[in-house]
Amino acid sequence: MPDSVLEAPLQLKPANYVAGKWKPARSGRTYEKRNPARPTEIVGEFPASGEEDVNAAVEGAAKAFAGWSATPAARRAAVLMSAADVIDSRVEEIAADMTREMGKPLREARLEAARAAAIFRFFAGEAWRPKGEMFEQSMTGSTLYTVRRPLGVVGLITPWNFPAAIPAWKTAPALVYGNTVVLKVAQDAPLTGLHLAAALEEGGVPDGVLNLIIGRGSDVGTPLIRHPKVAAISFTGSVAVGHLVRDEATPLGKRVQLELGGHNPLIVMADADLARAVEAAYAGAFWSAGQKCTATRRIYVQATLYDEFRRRFLERIEGGKVGDPADPETEVGPLVNEHQLKDVLEAIERGKRDGGKVVVGGERVDEDAYLVAPTLFEDVADDAMLSREEVFGPVASLYRFHTLDEALERANAVEYGLSASIFTTNLATAQRFVNELEAGVLHVNSQTAGADVHVPFGGIKRSGFGPHEQGRAALEFYTEVVTVYQDA
Ligand code: NAD
Repeated sequence: MPDSVLEAPLQLKPANYVAGKWKPARSGRTYEKRNPARPTEIVGEFPASGEEDVNAAVEGAAKAFAGWSATPAARRAAVLMSAADVIDSRVEEIAADMTREMGKPLREARLEAARAAAIFRFFAGEAWRPKGEMFEQSMTGSTLYTVRRPLGVVGLITPWNFPAAIPAWKTAPALVYGNTVVLKVAQDAPLTGLHLAAALEEGGVPDGVLNLIIGRGSDVGTPLIRHPKVAAISFTGSVAVGHLVRDEATPLGKRVQLELGGHNPLIVMADADLARAVEAAYAGAFWSAGQKCTATRRIYVQATLYDEFRRRFLERIEGGKVGDPADPETEVGPLVNEHQLKDVLEAIERGKRDGGKVVVGGERVDEDAYLVAPTLFEDVADDAMLSREEVFGPVASLYRFHTLDEALERANAVEYGLSASIFTTNLATAQRFVNELEAGVLHVNSQTAGADVHVPFGGIKRSGFGPHEQGRAALEFYTEVVTVYQDA
């Protein structure tokens, strides 16, 4: 192959990937995706898919299931390993596209792109891990065992805020355990989804095993959920849409997994390492412009440390770089689209009307970019909207507390239960937090955001439904258990 070909930039096709072919929407309809840092710049035109496209993808996936599920797991894993190599070789391109289409600062986008490769490699390893348990029949002593089998065609619906990691951590386990996939990526992050599909194609995924559909939520999501050949739906997104998905899918007998929003507390005890607590509060509340399900929304500081924490936190906010997400120094970039910008600015106004005081930020800081200044509230009542509802932007509130009992009770007083964190140097305090805090992911002396690939990730209370994702927990959702009584 001539060097010029090897060096040619990757040309992603702005199309669906259906049964091994890149195709426009059957209706021919498209939509424009704009750069949230420069809304006059059109990132691309992508298919506005609908029911016909979903049907073709599900049919392709259903046809491919017999062959793929009968393929040895180690060969399925080899596809994931090759795709991981492709992703690794393109981390810079994927990160740049992610930043351009949904505004994640480049420094975080690079880490996320690289993480997608790590996720593929971890799940490739599942090919060599146990898929059942061995017992003995009680009456005869004959063989008795369980075996896990794939479900069939699974539908995966993903949000825009982790456009590489979330599709990867659903697709990789689905595939390695022998399912075939129809992945519906968010309208605000089609390019990153295309990168993943292209990597799997280059990694040798057989036709129909992985299908990617781009389009609006209800236009694509609804027919996918309703299709009789789809056995299960894994959804990550907002509580409102997640509950719609569950209510639609469960009466049809489908398995459903939901990973939803959060309202994540950070508790800072008087004995905490102050510098680390301040840094964690900043990163948790404002990195990715607060557009993480695990972002810190409520910061509870023990009364004797409150003034000092507040002073140091304001200094940190002042020193943080807000602006162009393509600048590798930028810590806080824009919100994903105009709609989110409007929602966040309205929530700030509502927070003020409810009696909250803006300590810093509170406004849009660029005429073009959908950029909101890191915003800190104080004097927010525990029953006010800002203390209870997820505002998906760089907005956090600071609260003063006196005792650990009080902090735990107030931290738990929300319907969500995704992540939580405490800063303390006292082991007994940390232990009470671990025992009593109502959340699926707990951090002692680290920020509320962050999810390692090899351990379960997911929320309790209204933040989740069904088995958790990632790590070995993924086996629960993407396989079903069959018990075998085997006599000679
Ligand atoms: P969203 O609920 O609007 O959309 C999520 C996905 O569902 C998108 O692909 C969307 O197109 C699709 N969708 C929309 N309407 C649909 C319908 N009627 N039927 C089927 N699919 C439909 O969420 P979003 O704005 O993309 O993401 C932000 C939300 O996701 C936040 O609430 C955040 O907390 C949550 N989130 C949760 C996790 C987690 O793991 N717990 C991770 C990331 C984001």
